[in-house]
Amino acid sequence: MNGRVGWFSRLMYNIKMGLQRFMRGRYGTDKLNTLILIIGLVFCIGSMFMPVGWPVLVMTGLAYVCSFVVIFRSMSRNTYKRYRENRRYLSLVNRLKDREHRYFSCPKCRQSVRVPKGKGKISITCPKCREKFVKKT
Ligand SMILES: [Zn+2]
Repeated sequence: MNGRVGWFSRLMYNIKMGLQRFMRGRYGTDKLNTLILIIGLVFCIGSMFMPVGWPVLVMTGLAYVCSFVVIFRSMSRNTYKRYRENRRYLSLVNRLKDREHRYFSCPKCRQSVRVPKGKGKISITCPKCREKFVKKT
């Protein structure tokens, strides 16, 4: 009995180690991957309830694309690029949640500038390149 349990836990240990070795230097998962996974699942479940026709094919295709992107991102060795994608996604979420500010991008250097909402027309100075531009908030 003990021998059998030992064999099983050894196998589990080997699988765990193998996975760890495989994932070393790879990106893994993040909030953006979770979102893509959920979108993929929605397409997948949605396609089950639809009558047969081309929209089902499109939705199934999109579900496949989503899972492919998730696998690609978590297996990726370009961790810096994946990290930046996730950061961009998180800042977009923050912007959508933020109801007290408006976000503009500088016409000269594309730096994003946050200004309080409801102040009418104001002159904004870019914090990066000092370019001045007027926007309605
Ligand atoms: Zn600027």
